[in-house]
Amino acid sequence: MTSVGAGHGVITEVALDTIALDRFEPLIGHDREDSLCAAADRARAVMTGRTFWHVNSTAKGGGVAELLTALLPYLRGAGIDTRWLVIDGDADFFTVSKRIHNQLHESDGEPLGDESRRTYEHTLARNADGLRALVQPGDVVLFHDPQTAGLIDAAKACGARIAWRCHIGVDEPDGRARAAWAFLGSYIAAADRLVFSCRQHVWDGLDAERVTIMPPSIDAFTPKNEELDESTAAAILAAAGIVDAPPELNAKPEFMNRHGVTRMVTRRATVTSGSIPYGAPIVVQVSRWDDLKDPIGVLRGFVDHVAPHHDAHLVLAGPAADSIEDDPEQVRTLADVHAAWEQVEPFVRRRVHLVSLPMDDEDENAAMVNALQRRADVVVQKSLAEGFGLTVAEAMWKRRAVVASDRGGIVEQITDNENGVLVHDPSDLAEFGRAVSRLLEDQQLASRLGEAAHERVRDYFLAPRELVQYFELTEQLVEG
Ligand code: UDP
Repeated sequence: MTSVGAGHGVITEVALDTIALDRFEPLIGHDREDSLCAAADRARAVMTGRTFWHVNSTAKGGGVAELLTALLPYLRGAGIDTRWLVIDGDADFFTVSKRIHNQLHESDGEPLGDESRRTYEHTLARNADGLRALVQPGDVVLFHDPQTAGLIDAAKACGARIAWRCHIGVDEPDGRARAAWAFLGSYIAAADRLVFSCRQHVWDGLDAERVTIMPPSIDAFTPKNEELDESTAAAILAAAGIVDAPPELNAKPEFMNRHGVTRMVTRRATVTSGSIPYGAPIVVQVSRWDDLKDPIGVLRGFVDHVAPHHDAHLVLAGPAADSIEDDPEQVRTLADVHAAWEQVEPFVRRRVHLVSLPMDDEDENAAMVNALQRRADVVVQKSLAEGFGLTVAEAMWKRRAVVASDRGGIVEQITDNENGVLVHDPSDLAEFGRAVSRLLEDQQLASRLGEAAHERVRDYFLAPRELVQYFELTEQLVEG
């Protein structure tokens, strides 16, 4: 990583690999590969001599960092000079940006007043210096999420073409979401295009001509999603101290990092209630520690409505809580979940595991998530609101039976009872418990849904589809 700018508000550049597009052919077939390459050729032609900048607020943790890490190397592989910048902010700035994030999700929180605006603009003004030193006239800049929207004017003044991509939203906006739109409205006014993950998250009153709908995608080749056989997954979970090793385990806890180098899992996760006995059924939710992912609701739903009838264990897994700079609420949320765990009666508590996954090496963290998702009997994502929910696509790709809330981008991914199960009211813990129990009891149903889930992701949510949309977006931006 290199930093550009001065003083406290430097902007940091994340080093990127370059990966050729032809690796997708075995996955998507010849015809889709041809369309991908044709779209890449058109984009490369218009982008010659220009840079495609992506700007966000963290290099690791959460869905946006996951997407940029996975996809940007392919844009470079397509011959487009693609670079990734991460803004710098202090705790006050990220408190304000988290407040905007929560309001866009209709979650409670303090209102966004003049003081919030001053904090937001002050930090971004310092980051703008770094941006101005890099962006050239004719470049294309894609700003991600509310944290970076206040930089759009600075990039515009450099003569760049701009898109703003909003990865979050709520299905039925009311006062709070609208207040966040009002806060951000003046910053996004100069963007040439506005990109949303699904149609229901598009703000009222935006010019439809400026809007692109681009659902996120997953990359089947990253350490998060690469194929892992059962014994390697078991070895990874044993090495991380999450699940006891099966007898006679011969496999090594190996994974391929994103540079193509074989590595071993050596770090251990922090696990409450000790490791899970080998062979026990497991229900898993993987998320940042965020109230909107409702970890306490998952815990209570499991304890009250699943644990009395099944011998399954629950894993609530997330990153080591102090590891993600742009999310100041994680430490508090994890402490709240821990307090809820302590309240559970000891006989059941021993089957509830809060797992903090080390983030020192993002690829090793990804390998642990991969192994956990593959080992799960049921994957859940009981979010109260969700922009897209990459964890859902990740689990579906791994042929898991998924129980997830009928919210935001999750609805784009799961068709109820066809390729997963939707929970219509995420606050109804009995409904959630019934859905999880049904899948624990009926393994045939679970594997039928898992197969259909894999196909759904293969057809709509793999990286090539999003890459084609990026190629089209650059063309639209350059050609105006
Ligand atoms: N994730 C991870 N390690 C963790 C917890 C989460 O890599 O310890 C990843 C998860 O696998 C997914 C992303 O973080 O790729 C979360 O994206 P999602 O869209 O589900 O939610 P967001 O965090 O963007 O709200």
